[in-house]
Amino acid sequence: MKKEVLGKFITIIACLCLFVAAFAVIFINNNYVQSIKKLVRSTTTANISELTVVKSQYLDEKIEYELKALQLLAFNIGERNGIFSCSELIREYQKLHGATNMWVLDINGNSWSSIESDVLSKEKDRLFTPALKGETAMSDVFMGLLGKRQVLFQTTIIHNGQIVGGVYEAYSLEQLQNTYGSSTYNNSGYSYVLDKNGTIMLAPVRFSYLQIYSNFRDVLKDGKNSNKAINDFMMALQNCSKGSAVFDFEGQSQFLSFTPLQAKKGWYFVTVIPLNMVEEDGVAIVDIAMRMSAVIILTMVLIVAAVLFSIYLRNRSRRKYNMYIRRIYGAIAQNIDTVICIVDVKESLVEYTFENSQEILGIPPQKFLQPVSEQDSEFLHELKQILQRRPAEKAVWELYLFNDVTGKNMWLEITALPVNLQGIDKYIFAVTDVTADRQNRELLNTAVAEAKQANAAKSNFLSSMSHDIRTPMNAIVGMTKLAQIHIDNKFKVNDCLQKIDVSGKHLLNLINDILDMSKIESGSMVLSSEAFSLPRLVNGDLDILQTQCRSKSQQLLLETKNIVHEELLGDTLRLNQIFLNLISNASKFTPENGKIIFAVEELPQRTPGYAAYRFSVSDNGIGIAAEFLPNIFTPFERENNRSVGNIEGTGLGLAITKNIVEAMGGRIWVESTEGKGSIFTVELELQLQVEREISTCGKALQGIRILFVGSLNDEAKKLVAYMTDFGMLVKTVASEAAAIQELYSNDQYKLVIITDEVYSVAGSARSIREVCPSLKLGVFSDGSNSLLLDDDIAGKTVDDIFCKPVFKGVLCQKLLQMLVISDNIVSDKVSTSILDSRRFLLAEDNALNREIIVELFAMFGAQVETAVDGKEAVAAFESRPTGYYDAIFMDIQMPLMDGYEAAQKIRCSQKLQAGTVPIVAMSGNVFAEDVQAAKQAGMNAHIGKPVDIDAICKVLHELLK
Ligand code: ADP
Repeated sequence: MKKEVLGKFITIIACLCLFVAAFAVIFINNNYVQSIKKLVRSTTTANISELTVVKSQYLDEKIEYELKALQLLAFNIGERNGIFSCSELIREYQKLHGATNMWVLDINGNSWSSIESDVLSKEKDRLFTPALKGETAMSDVFMGLLGKRQVLFQTTIIHNGQIVGGVYEAYSLEQLQNTYGSSTYNNSGYSYVLDKNGTIMLAPVRFSYLQIYSNFRDVLKDGKNSNKAINDFMMALQNCSKGSAVFDFEGQSQFLSFTPLQAKKGWYFVTVIPLNMVEEDGVAIVDIAMRMSAVIILTMVLIVAAVLFSIYLRNRSRRKYNMYIRRIYGAIAQNIDTVICIVDVKESLVEYTFENSQEILGIPPQKFLQPVSEQDSEFLHELKQILQRRPAEKAVWELYLFNDVTGKNMWLEITALPVNLQGIDKYIFAVTDVTADRQNRELLNTAVAEAKQANAAKSNFLSSMSHDIRTPMNAIVGMTKLAQIHIDNKFKVNDCLQKIDVSGKHLLNLINDILDMSKIESGSMVLSSEAFSLPRLVNGDLDILQTQCRSKSQQLLLETKNIVHEELLGDTLRLNQIFLNLISNASKFTPENGKIIFAVEELPQRTPGYAAYRFSVSDNGIGIAAEFLPNIFTPFERENNRSVGNIEGTGLGLAITKNIVEAMGGRIWVESTEGKGSIFTVELELQLQVEREISTCGKALQGIRILFVGSLNDEAKKLVAYMTDFGMLVKTVASEAAAIQELYSNDQYKLVIITDEVYSVAGSARSIREVCPSLKLGVFSDGSNSLLLDDDIAGKTVDDIFCKPVFKGVLCQKLLQMLVISDNIVSDKVSTSILDSRRFLLAEDNALNREIIVELFAMFGAQVETAVDGKEAVAAFESRPTGYYDAIFMDIQMPLMDGYEAAQKIRCSQKLQAGTVPIVAMSGNVFAEDVQAAKQAGMNAHIGKPVDIDAICKVLHELLK
């Protein structure tokens, strides 16, 4: 991180340096260019001035040479007698020097000319005079023959020390110009010869300025130069100065260098060179310098760019590497339950933390990278403290910390390992959440303890079992012996048999419970789902236990609250088991005259398609000791006190109940105070049936008149409201007298219901019955007067009892039976006449069982043929004519062929009756899955062993009707 920032900083500084360097180069370069320009210009102008001087010297030398040669000629002429006698010599001279003409003039005015036509004219006198005055000189320009511009060299001829005349040489300007050349400075410039007034003496050969300009001032004026500059230049000429100037003419800036001629006073030699030519070299040098600068800058830029690029590449590969490492860390982090922190020892800072710290510890990894701060949570602070530890070698700690971020306690295993990575000392900390391991270990320990406890409980149970089994067995063996001894004493034998019966039933219960428990514990309990009516189920359970309660003069009441759904789906066998167990316990552990309330409440719906219920069984019995409460649902546990010890039981009922409740997805709990009573509560969700149409039930009841006698308390109001819902016409009267009066005035009433709150309900019932003997009469009762009422029902005073609390479905059913279909009601009392003159086949491997059935059936006029296994049974069925057997009773566990297979074989046989002959399973396996398996094998019904003649008759009624 730090390195990255440093890298960026260096890059920015490098860029800044580059800019500064480039700017400096440009700035220096600019100044340098300017100074080069100046230097080159001054060097060039110095060169041109020198060139001008050199060229002017050529002209000077030429003039001096011509004058000297002419002096020599004059001397030769002066040596002769007669100055006109040397014409040959002069002509030779003319030829040699290329003069256009030669003259000789004596002081008397006589003359000789080498060209006769070119006689000395008067105007030219002024030109010829200096020689006659003893001067040797060159004249100004004059027009010679054919208008040619020329100059005149002249010198004095001296004879015997006397000036006798002069000799003259006309010389063409062109020739004179040839001495210094027509052009200069690589043909880019040219030269003028001016006099000090600016008059052009010798014009450049290549221009014809002669015709246009006679004075150089005009040239300058035409070039639009300032008067001051022109005047300064003219002044310089006047002052015989040597110098240079820049003027514009001929459409460009021209550089002028001028120097006075030595051989001709007042004449100037002027060199003109276009200024751009003067600066050409400078420009070229500047150009080269610029190029060099550009190359330097470009090189610098390239170097810096290369440096930056290499830094970038290095950074990028480092970044890529870091990214790669981070990805690896990330991948590792995703797959392990350990947070890794790498700590730099020197900086004392966490430099990397695996991403999984958020998931495992609830702390984002960045938080570890920051130094310790006040804002850190306590958990993070503790962890940071641990990360400061520097053990000399690998160390492992296990800590129990409260994680205030997640609000949970955690077991952390922290390993610290000192390492040296590329010469840098680091520590790798591995933080693993071992809470689950710890918990598992603890669970395991608890499980072991529990298993030990359960084992101990089982051993206890076994010892108590042997006691519990032995007790009824003793009774059975003892009573059998007694019966044998008193075989002739009918009364004694009967008494013994009754006791054997009771003990046998107790033994059966015990065995059933053990089987049930082992079934539940092995996890093989299967719940069935069948349609049932909740009120019927509840009332049925109450009916079953009512007798037990009455025998102890206990009140068993039902309370309902918010019941909306009555038609449900569920395993009624198991539901009954729950309620019967709880209610029978309540009755068992409640002394005489106690009160037991079974309350059913429908709770707000939690799952669509299901209704939630709370069932509670409360009693005011002996209660449960606080220390026993936690073990109450543990199998084989019974409270160890005297009052319980005397009560019959196995200690399995509640364990079975709890397991069933939990298998149904519900829960069960108990509240109890010793000596005051207990409340067992079960909460269950039960699947809803598509509600049976009560309105159809109601249709049949529509318009029927009912007279209700008594006050309208809450339950009575509910009853009246339900009946009104069914379309019945209900009239309410408060007393027996009012009821009798109403019955006299209206004979349309079909039913009178009297509440048991009416004083002397039985008396009132009898009075009403006397008035209207054909009327149906019901009592609305909570069951407390039931003994009295039962008698009345038996005495036909009262037709039926409407139990409180009222369930709509049950009420509808009851009313229908009383008022609409009462004639068709089949009595619940099962008749054994169904057995009369029947023939059955019994497959049973146990000889004793075979004998019991054969004997039992024979008592009711039925004949039973037997088979000792499935195979024999199939053979018997196939060997007999069609319709020979009315039904087949099939044991399940048999040698050679079991009952299921035998049933299947019979169903598949070729006999006409194969598909229709009723087959009834008769088995000791009585669970829901056993019933189901029997049905799947093609059997029609299932009867549990030991067989009950009533159960057999009931099944046969169904199958043979
Ligand atoms: P069992 O009734 O066959 O002994 P349970 O499992 O049904 O077995 O009950 C276990 C024990 O819980 C009973 O022995 C008794 O000590 C206690 N118990 C159960 N129900 C009640 C109750 N309603 N009042 C007091 N004690 C109870």
